[in-house]
Amino acid sequence: MNEFEDIAENIKRIRDTVENARQRAGTQSVSIMAVTKTVPPERVNFAVSQGFDLLGENRVQEYLGKKDLYDGSARIHFIGHLQSNKIKYIIDSVEMIQSIDSVHLAREVSRAAIAAGRTMDILCEINIGEEPSKTGFSPSEFPDAAAEIASLEGVRLKGLMAIPPVNEGKRYFEKMRELYDDMRSRYTGLEVLSMGMSSDYPDAIACGANLVRIGSALFGARLNNTVTSI
Ligand SMILES: *Cc1c(COP(=O)(O)O)cnc(C)c1O
Repeated sequence: MNEFEDIAENIKRIRDTVENARQRAGTQSVSIMAVTKTVPPERVNFAVSQGFDLLGENRVQEYLGKKDLYDGSARIHFIGHLQSNKIKYIIDSVEMIQSIDSVHLAREVSRAAIAAGRTMDILCEINIGEEPSKTGFSPSEFPDAAAEIASLEGVRLKGLMAIPPVNEGKRYFEKMRELYDDMRSRYTGLEVLSMGMSSDYPDAIACGANLVRIGSALFGARLNNTVTSI
């Protein structure tokens, strides 16, 4: 038995589940992100070799330690809480930052991107359940923030990301879809609704997600708790 057999089987199951949910929802395409926290690079590279080539990183330190070991064909999105003083470590190598959770951070990423001579694709993270333990824009403050963020140079607002309250996904996925549709009617270029993780991605797709972020259902359970990283 191949040492990555578990991942191969998980990939098959995830692909089937995503495809079924996608067809039912009538969504054109759904991207599947492999969330790599705590996963050794060899296992990540196996997933990349099977076509799971979009990787989600949520800790700058861990990412810096692993990035040179990743297969060069992998595309990286940053999905964790990002401190302004760490933007410089990721600005050149990630394709998108999904976790813009304040206007301040958006301004700092804009500044760093301009200095690096690039434009950074970004998603704004919405604290859709308005949970005090989570970062992100509250849905009511977001429209004003979006107006400023959309006007910044060096960043391109591509959509929204959310981590809804555990076990209450469905209701909040629907709220996210409403917010996303509202934003799309105001701004051009929004095309990503990133929501759904291992335990609830079929529900998220049913509500219109077109990017799901999957960790444990792909690589297996993580030993350490992940709450601190999000
Ligand atoms: C860890 C993490 C995921 C994946 O979580 P799983 O439940 O293991 O699929 C998705 N998004 C973010 C932001 C995460 O931190």
